[in-house]
Amino acid sequence: MNDHRVASADPARSTGTTSATTSADAPREEVGEVRRFWQRLGLPGLVDVHTHFMPERVQHKVWGYFDAQGPLIGGLEWPIVYRRQEAERTALLRELGVRAFTAMLYPHKPGMARWLNAWAADFAGRTPDCLHTATLHPEPGVGAYVREAIEAGARVFKAHVQVGAYDPADELLQEAWGMLAEAGIPVVMHCGSGPAPGEHTGPEPIARVLARHPGLRLIVAHLGMPEYEEFLDLAERYGQLRLDTTMVFTDFTEKFMPFPRRALPRLAGLGDRILLGSDFPNIPYPYAHQLHALERLDLGPDWLRAVCHDNAAGLFGL
Ligand SMILES: [Zn+2]
Repeated sequence: MNDHRVASADPARSTGTTSATTSADAPREEVGEVRRFWQRLGLPGLVDVHTHFMPERVQHKVWGYFDAQGPLIGGLEWPIVYRRQEAERTALLRELGVRAFTAMLYPHKPGMARWLNAWAADFAGRTPDCLHTATLHPEPGVGAYVREAIEAGARVFKAHVQVGAYDPADELLQEAWGMLAEAGIPVVMHCGSGPAPGEHTGPEPIARVLARHPGLRLIVAHLGMPEYEEFLDLAERYGQLRLDTTMVFTDFTEKFMPFPRRALPRLAGLGDRILLGSDFPNIPYPYAHQLHALERLDLGPDWLRAVCHDNAAGLFGL
């Protein structure tokens, strides 16, 4: 997700953890808290399908955007907890026990995706626990560079409809969606209208994509926030549609785009297609809070095991 600051509350305090600072020290108690979470469940660790790694220059621009652009939603501040050097960020994920993660990166204009993909391939090459990630944009040549990325070993794609400001059903993307569907490669797509809407966000364009590519392994980021129920409708209709938990159910998100309680049984029913995502490192609360936010839904240990590890492990053959 992108953006801003909760002026009012310190989310760390409300979750009982102590460090929401940008201290360079890995907060010991947080590492213990996260590890105890997955150990209690009898898991070998976590798989997080929604973490951001990108070229440092781009990462710093994104952080500058979070800091400076001003809130898209009134009153929000977004103090990034994990604003650290890349090597510290990967080291921390390992300490937390995140067995596999992604490098979500995305262009905001044409002509960038190929360059981002080259960086991501290099990053994956030197980061064995990162699932090799690639991205795309509706532009001439997209079919060719998506094919190249697949041939280079990309295991997951990222698309950001609001930042990219494009219709995901754009004719220019049809060949790419077809190839990705055929290859069974998941696409994490930020397509909901939260935290801010775009011209092409929401379930309707995604319904058009899926009508043409029903087998596309789309992972709807942020559970489709705030159009949660509309995206659950699509998931119940398309068996390859998945959703990630990124930032959903946290104190932060519940303040402005709460997940409707009445839809909880549907989450239970889709328990084999919900995947842990965090938005690390761009989050305004400690990593453990996302896990506790899932735990307090009271959907049970089997659901948590599937969501926090097994579903993604199966999907990516880990
Ligand atoms: Zn994100």
